[in-house]
Amino acid sequence: MPLYEYVCVDCEAHFDALRAMSAADKPIACPKCGVENARRAISLFSAIGSNGVIAGNGGSCGSCTPSGSCATCASRSSR
Ligand SMILES: [Zn+2]
Repeated sequence: MPLYEYVCVDCEAHFDALRAMSAADKPIACPKCGVENARRAISLFSAIGSNGVIAGNGGSCGSCTPSGSCATCASRSSR
């Protein structure tokens, strides 16, 4: 299961949680105040760029999707 970062709406506590992808955006209980009102926070390391690509987490060219299906990756992998 992937690790997601959450921030509590009530007390603004930040915490990480391992969750299934299907549950990533569902409310989760805050470990600090116990209120189930935490939202998923977007990590700085996986910030999504203006083109919708997740920076630093892409294919072999470093600027596309993990599947590596962009033209740059295709030209590299063909060699
Ligand atoms: Zn809280």
